Amino acid sequence: MNGGRPRVAVVGAGAAGLMAAIAAAQAGAEVLLLERTADGGRKILISGGGRCNILPARPDETRFVTESSPHTLRNILRSWPHREQVAFFERDLGLPLVEEAESGKLFPATNRARDVRDGLLRLAGERGARFVPRALVTDLAPHGGGWRLALAGAAPLDADRVIVATGGLSVAEAGSDGAGLAILGRLGHAIHPTYPALTPLTAEPHPFGELSGVSLRVAITARDAGREARAEGGFLFTHRGYSGPAVLDVSHVPVRCRAEGRRDATLTVRWAPLDDAGWEAALRPEGTRTVAGALRRELPERLADALSAKAGVDPATPLAQLRREDRIRLVAMLVRGELPWTGDEGYKKAEVTGGGVSLAEVDPRTLGSRRQRGLFICGEALDAFGPIGGYNFLWAWATGRAAGLGAARNP
Ligand SMILES: Cc1cc2nc3c(=O)[nH]c(=O)nc-3n(C[C@H](O)[C@H](O)[C@H](O)COP(=O)(O)OP(=O)(O)OC[C@H]3O[C@@H](n4cnc5c(N)ncnc54)[C@H](O)[C@@H]3O)c2cc1C
Repeated sequence: MNGGRPRVAVVGAGAAGLMAAIAAAQAGAEVLLLERTADGGRKILISGGGRCNILPARPDETRFVTESSPHTLRNILRSWPHREQVAFFERDLGLPLVEEAESGKLFPATNRARDVRDGLLRLAGERGARFVPRALVTDLAPHGGGWRLALAGAAPLDADRVIVATGGLSVAEAGSDGAGLAILGRLGHAIHPTYPALTPLTAEPHPFGELSGVSLRVAITARDAGREARAEGGFLFTHRGYSGPAVLDVSHVPVRCRAEGRRDATLTVRWAPLDDAGWEAALRPEGTRTVAGALRRELPERLADALSAKAGVDPATPLAQLRREDRIRLVAMLVRGELPWTGDEGYKKAEVTGGGVSLAEVDPRTLGSRRQRGLFICGEALDAFGPIGGYNFLWAWATGRAAGLGAARNP
């Protein structure tokens, strides 16, 4: 303690660590913010295509994925209500937020992720936190009632409390490589197996290789023996397979299936808003209209032809000559077409890491470890992630703030 002020070391200056440092310093702690890269917050910089989707406009808590208790997850999220998070960015950071109407995502009005990263770093400094770049923490150990932090190439540091905000394993070049999780594991925390989430899927051979670059809105369901995920939204054919928000949102089902040594996860796609009855009506004979003509009203041209061919129906067939069994096969393909997949793009392209420290290992109010006194955990290192749309920052902000306040106020 320094004159009654706890010395709090925050490990990792990503979204969660920056928020933790701001909250802890504001609550009166003496804060050191240790970051392995030269500047921190690199995922904020690359987020939302460089625009930073700070938050969802209307979050739906049920869309988070965890192996831990969803009830605990909700309690943690509710510790910092969404409207207060919005107010924080607009008032404390001076960054008005604007909703992108078609996606329900909130972005800074400046559309610059850099403003978010730099604003958080600046506010942490203004509230008294000391930022230490190029500081790689290699280990943590209880020491004299507090903590000793081992640093690569530098003398160890002592602190009364430590907040671990080191992220997961995705996009390692942005700074987080899972080393923090390994340290937490060594300190006795139960860790759910990690996996890449929100990652593109691959198909080898590619059944729709010629469609690379085609995008549209779809509804997609991924299912295996024990899991199911559904999403509606953008879908993109890539050189190697499939991407876009809807694919990313359900990707954890095939990823986990494969990690468990199985291949039985299926992807089914409704390619247009029409259901069975809608397509039956759309495929009714009408003048000289062909199958291609009917499909192209609802779908991108090349996809319309490819789906028709996959269903074994010549797109040039006049609707008046479409046989009943062909129509049934075609409608099934359009409404619940199975999309072959063989793999995924892994952590290299994953926007987040699934799994992580079980939520049962922390006190949901303070995010203090139940295993180690004076140790707090936040952000992606915890076992939760949300869909595309600002949910993962929502989690980082809420858990970062809770851990910062927890460390400043609780032993
Ligand atoms: C391309 C991309 C786009 C994204 N876009 C969005 C978006 O628009 N909206 C959204 O909500 N989410 C988005 N995400 C997800 C979001 O970026 C993460 O969920 C969020 O950054 C997690 O925050 P974190 O602080 O827990 O971890 P991180 O942001 O990964 O931060 C961890 C920090 O700890 C540092 N660190 C790690 N280990 C050590 C160590 N041993 N010693 C010292 N420092 C260490 C790292 O360098 C890093 O700065 C995106 C992710 C990616 C990859």
